Amino acid sequence: MVGVVDLNGRVWKKLKRELPARYDENFLVSTVCEMAEELGEGAYELCGISVPGIADAHSGQWLYAPFSGISDFPIASIVSDKLGVMAFADNDVNLCALAEKYFGSCRHTENFLWVTVSNGIGGGLVLDGELYRGRDGIAGEFGHLSVTDREDAVCDCGLCGCVEAVASGRAIKAAYLKETGRQMSAKDIAVLARSGDKPAAKVYFEAGYYLGRAISSAASLLNIERAVLGGGVSMDLDLLLPGIDEGLRRHCFAKSAAGLKIEGTALGYDAALIGCAALVKEKIENGQCKIFV
Ligand SMILES: [Zn+2]
Repeated sequence: MVGVVDLNGRVWKKLKRELPARYDENFLVSTVCEMAEELGEGAYELCGISVPGIADAHSGQWLYAPFSGISDFPIASIVSDKLGVMAFADNDVNLCALAEKYFGSCRHTENFLWVTVSNGIGGGLVLDGELYRGRDGIAGEFGHLSVTDREDAVCDCGLCGCVEAVASGRAIKAAYLKETGRQMSAKDIAVLARSGDKPAAKVYFEAGYYLGRAISSAASLLNIERAVLGGGVSMDLDLLLPGIDEGLRRHCFAKSAAGLKIEGTALGYDAALIGCAALVKEKIENGQCKIFV
């Protein structure tokens, strides 16, 4: 997705295009730049880029991309050359957290965790008012916090017991299939849960419980004020919350849990897009670029 977003986080225009099953970095960059020119008509001044996987926000290098095989790709400088504006890049989930800090419900919150619950699970951390990226830019890998000894909880990362393996959209689908023999999307399972289907409600409760257990680890370690959930599965947060509460009750240090707010993002599906403007805003605040008005 490509969009025009102002530095107040308002999305003016956006354009979505499906990518083919296989593509390389050159195809990706030329498609994105084509869309940017079509959409922005040269009216934009700076560019933020959100990428999955691992990015070096300082150099704008895309170090590792899951699925596509793209690695060590200087995406920010290439896009910058093609569009003729300064460009910056960072991991998509980090940018969701930055969007929440600058434009969402956490504008006055110094310490919070962002959690994307979608097909996978990702996390971003804002500590003492700053996005915390860690040594290699991969801090906040919430999806790979260990929450269970279950042997069937095999994660794509190669480990066993990660929260992603038991609470993501994929995990919800797999748990419902195991429970009922029926193959359904996480969204359809949520609809069933609301209509009184007990296996569906149980699957959501369990996913919530594991999320709550992982949030407990983060809260006990970091003394965060909020955990903000985004991503497709989080749109059914009401079904997850009873389990999350149980996970917190059983696993979180009581003083860390006291006053901890769990909420859904108000930024909806545009969080990562708005995060691109947040990244630009962060660079301006840090003196890494200037804007002329
Ligand atoms: Zn994992």
